[in-house]
Amino acid sequence: MMQMETRLHYTETHLHEREDSFMQLLDGLPLSVLITNHGQIQYANPAGLRLIHADSLEAVIGMSTDDLVDAADHEILAERKQRHYNNRPIGSVRYRIRCLNGQLRHVEGFSLKITYQKKRCVIGIFKDISDQKLEEDRLMQSEKLSTAGQLAAGIAHEIRNPLTAIFGFLKLLRTSSHYNDQYFAIMESELKRIEFIVNELLVLSKPQVSHASKPMDILPLLDQVITLMNGQAALKNIEIVSAFSEPSIWIAGEANQLKQVFINLLKNAMEAMPEGGIIRIHALARNNEASISVQDEGCGMTAEQIQALGKPFFTTKESGTGLGFMITHNIIHNHGGNISVQSALQEGTTFTVTLPVISEPEAASS
Ligand code: ADP
Ligand code: MG
Repeated sequence: MMQMETRLHYTETHLHEREDSFMQLLDGLPLSVLITNHGQIQYANPAGLRLIHADSLEAVIGMSTDDLVDAADHEILAERKQRHYNNRPIGSVRYRIRCLNGQLRHVEGFSLKITYQKKRCVIGIFKDISDQKLEEDRLMQSEKLSTAGQLAAGIAHEIRNPLTAIFGFLKLLRTSSHYNDQYFAIMESELKRIEFIVNELLVLSKPQVSHASKPMDILPLLDQVITLMNGQAALKNIEIVSAFSEPSIWIAGEANQLKQVFINLLKNAMEAMPEGGIIRIHALARNNEASISVQDEGCGMTAEQIQALGKPFFTTKESGTGLGFMITHNIIHNHGGNISVQSALQEGTTFTVTLPVISEPEAASS
């Protein structure tokens, strides 16, 4: 009996010692560390206190993670709590947090289950990525604006044709004595077309607000992108041909971001074909996966170029940014998809995007 007690006592001191040295390690760590129990902060290391602008440990102990994590990310937080309760790994995350001084910061990190002061807790280790995030957003924005700028030439071309038609009909109407309903119908549809193109350009040049994923049919989106790019293609003697194997393919995504993906791919395809030619867009659904390929007849890529693809600023173009593919890749990955490339020099390149298919929502089928 006595022996057993001694042993227990020994194990306990041993554990305490381990916890002590563990805590010392956390105190000196440059990364922010928070330990929580049922969503309440039990401990924050000095770097963590600095991150959230707390003067002392007392100021944060007992604070709820719901108050720390910005409301916009509460869904992510709840999902992670659920994973913890279901005994699944919690893993890595990006959050926006509200500091005690009201400031919003972006953090990236991961969480693990631990036992702390004999309680089942979660330890989160975070890095402040606000500056990095700012830079990323800035780059995204500058690439978007340059896309919009480059699109402008094509769009001007695209708008000129309907404008010419409208002027023609107006002249006819003024000179002819009888009213013609059909003229108005054509003018209206041409004006709608101009409106659509201008709206698209505005949407694309707007900064991205938040990522709101919605069920959508990807095929009309592809059609819209093709319409948008047709003008520029025509200027370069390029024809964009599409073939969809299905009447509709449902995926979950953010329309503007996905548009950006296909605009980037089409832009690259067109830039690879200075002599003109055909770009083929195929879409099909197989094994719960949507597969959309953009195939060009351009210059192709070397093995080294394929390797370098996706590294920021890799470009072979005089006025290239080398950001288009990186953005495309990021968006596809955020959508749970993949992108692959096949290329043969002087023959052409095919980029294939795959995205998880969802079942068609009931309400949308009406
Ligand atoms: P940028 O178009 O500004 O150069 P991207 O990130 O869009 O930047 O593309 C990076 C590089 O990848 C391009 O400079 C080009 O060398 C190569 N590339 C991308 N798409 C194609 C394509 N369809 N055909 C040939 N090369 C391509
Ligand atoms: Mg590009």
